[in-house]
Amino acid sequence: MAATVVRSASGFRGSTGGGARERAEAGRARVPAQSLAGRNLDRLSKTMGTVGSPGCPQGRKVAQLAKRSFQRKALTTGSVYCSAAAGDGEGVAEPPKYCVVNFYHLVDVADEKAELEAHEAFLGEAKLDVKGRVFISEHGVNAQLSGPEADAVRYAEWIKSRPNFSDLCYRVFPSPGHAFPKLVLRNKALVSLLREMDDLPVTKPDQRAEKVSPQRWRAMLEEASSEKGQPGDGDGRLKPLLIDVRNDYEWDTGHFQGAERPNEYNFIETPVGQDVYGGLGDVEKERPIMMYCTGGIRCDIYSTVMRRQGFKNLYTLEGGIQNYLREEGPDHWKGSLYVFDSRMAVPPHLDSTREDGSLSAVAPCAICGGTAEAPHLNCANVDCNKLFLACEKCKPKYSGCCCKKCTNAPRLLRPIKKDGYYAKLHTYSETDDELKRQREDREALEEKIRRKKAAKAAAEAAGVPLPKKWGKKYLKM
Ligand SMILES: [Zn+2]
Ligand SMILES: [Zn+2]
Repeated sequence: MAATVVRSASGFRGSTGGGARERAEAGRARVPAQSLAGRNLDRLSKTMGTVGSPGCPQGRKVAQLAKRSFQRKALTTGSVYCSAAAGDGEGVAEPPKYCVVNFYHLVDVADEKAELEAHEAFLGEAKLDVKGRVFISEHGVNAQLSGPEADAVRYAEWIKSRPNFSDLCYRVFPSPGHAFPKLVLRNKALVSLLREMDDLPVTKPDQRAEKVSPQRWRAMLEEASSEKGQPGDGDGRLKPLLIDVRNDYEWDTGHFQGAERPNEYNFIETPVGQDVYGGLGDVEKERPIMMYCTGGIRCDIYSTVMRRQGFKNLYTLEGGIQNYLREEGPDHWKGSLYVFDSRMAVPPHLDSTREDGSLSAVAPCAICGGTAEAPHLNCANVDCNKLFLACEKCKPKYSGCCCKKCTNAPRLLRPIKKDGYYAKLHTYSETDDELKRQREDREALEEKIRRKKAAKAAAEAAGVPLPKKWGKKYLKM
């Protein structure tokens, strides 16, 4: 029935795992009511939109339209489509609610290998339906997971129960299905910057920036954008400076008003050592600097670099953009939020199960300059694969390509017949339905060749001339 379609984003490539049916079986247990995440989920689930009930024709129509638009979106933008909306009728067991859970915790881990093994053992034993990325290192843990809420929350709670991890704070966001193709659990640097910077004092809170609540962040944003308090205006107050500590293409999807586009395509290119973050070379070391990223870990880590460089008043947004949008809403935010899972972008209300129109982007369409919609696409020309934003019109017009030239390239992803779009390369080979269809096609072809070969042998034995149209290409294979 439901197909899972996963696309790759820049820096995230993977294969699609097991069936939606198996997943639907898993994780029906409810989250304990007293758990914080459970409460948040309940609050969020109340705000979720419902599709028309299957009973009435109007409802069915709405549901069909919604499903079609979702499927179209799934095929063209790589959202995950699972059977989460099915089973609205009475007496039908409710399918599990899927969610995305994000967390990190910076703490010294004495034996990272043992920690990893403990995770493996727990996951092996508990048989949870969680997918995503979990990185464990001497500096703690960084995780983005998807799964039925009960499973994902159970894993996060288990980590919280580990020695030194009790302060871990995780956040749960509704998702229409799994947002990752598989589970990757590794002993690995928590973020790319740390690969080269193992000596950063990231586990020492006093070496990092001061964490600021979303409420205070909002007030600081207002201060930063106000006319008052110019640097050096004599009243002794330096106006805060807002910096976006993410990749440039994330800024293109959405960002806080007043934040400059980062110079870096990738966070790993962010300057370390004596090189100062873009544009901060001339900034007074006392000036308050507001740093933000998606979930907070990049700021926490990068603030240790900036502190070493002499910046004295560093502030990071607690829990990152996701926490701000949840607590304060979309005020001072422009566009949507780029996320590193198969959804690639979520609306400012963070509930990607809601069907409420297209996702707005900040940067214009890379083809015509019009208003683009998130999420990004990778060019359908396999040899280009450029990550870009396009508008509603240019996507079908250029068949998912980034430019006219790419539409004539030799290696193009073939179009989805229904609406002329191109899907991702691996959506053809790795989704359950597509895999089955390909196998059937292959078997049918092999069977055809077998029959022709047999017919040829029989014809030759009987001395009958072969019909020309049988063609050498079949018989040779
Ligand atoms: Zn366009
Ligand atoms: Zn291209």
